[in-house]
Amino acid sequence: MDEQLHETYDEVLARNPGETEFHQAVLEVLDSLGPVVAKHPEYTDRAIIRRMCEPERQIIFRVPWVDDDGNVEINRGFRVEFNSALGPFKGGLRFHPSVYLGIVKFLGFEQIFKNSLTGLPIGGGKGGSDFDPKGRSDAEIMRFCQAFMTELYRHIGEYTDVPAGDIGVGGRELGYLFGQYKRITNRYESGVLTGKGLSWGGSQVRTEATGYGTVFFTEEILRARGESLDGRTVVVSGSGNVAIYAIEKVHELGGKVIACSDSSGYIVDEKGIDLELLKQVKLERRGRITDYVETRGASAQMGTRGSVWDVKCDIALPCATQNELNGSDAKTLASNGCSVVSEGANMPCTPDAIRTLADAGITFAPGKAANAGGVATSALEMQQNASRDSWTFQHTEERLAEIMSHIHQRCLETADEYGSPGNYVAGANISGFIQVADAMLAQGVI
Ligand code: NDP
Repeated sequence: MDEQLHETYDEVLARNPGETEFHQAVLEVLDSLGPVVAKHPEYTDRAIIRRMCEPERQIIFRVPWVDDDGNVEINRGFRVEFNSALGPFKGGLRFHPSVYLGIVKFLGFEQIFKNSLTGLPIGGGKGGSDFDPKGRSDAEIMRFCQAFMTELYRHIGEYTDVPAGDIGVGGRELGYLFGQYKRITNRYESGVLTGKGLSWGGSQVRTEATGYGTVFFTEEILRARGESLDGRTVVVSGSGNVAIYAIEKVHELGGKVIACSDSSGYIVDEKGIDLELLKQVKLERRGRITDYVETRGASAQMGTRGSVWDVKCDIALPCATQNELNGSDAKTLASNGCSVVSEGANMPCTPDAIRTLADAGITFAPGKAANAGGVATSALEMQQNASRDSWTFQHTEERLAEIMSHIHQRCLETADEYGSPGNYVAGANISGFIQVADAMLAQGVI
């Protein structure tokens, strides 16, 4: 790595002790920027990269609420407003017991480059809480969301910071969050949150967008080498929002998803995942993936050893969580003949996995490019809110497909220009970076 970039990385380590996921996300970007700083000394002169590694604002707050038994519970809430050079801070909220500042900062940092790649006017941010929604009643979820928004509302706004969903935050939670924002502020400010319900300011395709977008990006990769998804066997990890709609789009495009997972294990269904059943189990009943096997009958089984990455496939789509696919999983995928790994989740592949995939000649698409369809459609939702309009499903899906195709092209062109042809990691990091860096240069030292 270039010496100045190395110094920046050391500074990040020293200033953010213990935040390992954040360190990992920063290192992955800095690793790509050598040719950029060589060509553009002005970025180093004006400390652009060092400024980009320091969030504009970090908010940590107490979230007290009362459970169904009358006990007072206390969680911690976070919002990291990372970079607003291109537009209002934009990024989801995650409710999961593993959430701490380092996770929120890694996600917020990634979001800066991802949002830039969409070509839409959105900055980068992320938030969440260590609240665990699993096993909580609907009334408890509502009280928690109301308590969370009671602090968060003062920091967000259509022109300031626009949260959305992520792990543990879907349509139900966004409804409760929006309701509380409206109650406190006495404003029907549709553009303050995205992922809203269709009858109250939401956009068609937002629910499906991250999964669909990941598959559109994968199809672009295949198209660039004269192939397609038709007839391909695919393995998807997770069975939440991103995974479910990735499976749906793979099936629509003629591929077959034969395995998926949740935090309790994985399932293999040689006939192809029955999506209606999976939606019933995971979205309606909020159940475990085991329930799928019990209802589906003979074609489906629980995976008995290793992980979902032991299932032989042509294409792998990690859509669950960070660092879920390691070097040894990557080796297994390579020896089973997999040729593309495209990230639906944020940072699901470890650095070791990414190196192993590259050594094995497997095409790797990083999440900041491949899963950008979610936030891109959020920006389309903001556009519709601002113009008090709502578009059809078909029109919105066409816009999403165009955006994914454009991101794919930008990645390849930039990778070529900076001497790493065909390298989607370099292409995404450099292209995302330059747009933000130029805006920061223009806006002065702030
Ligand atoms: P959901 O909460 O809807 O689903 C998460 C899924 O991943 C669940 O099936 C969950 O299992 C599973 N999971 C979580 N942790 C683990 C684990 N340690 N091992 C195995 N499975 C696990 O979240 P989303 O689908 O929204 O998000 C998934 C990923 O996609 C995240 O990385 C998120 O940051 C990223 N992303 C999401 C976007 C969106 O629009 N929602 C946009 C861009 C990226 P269980 O049901 O057991 O909890």
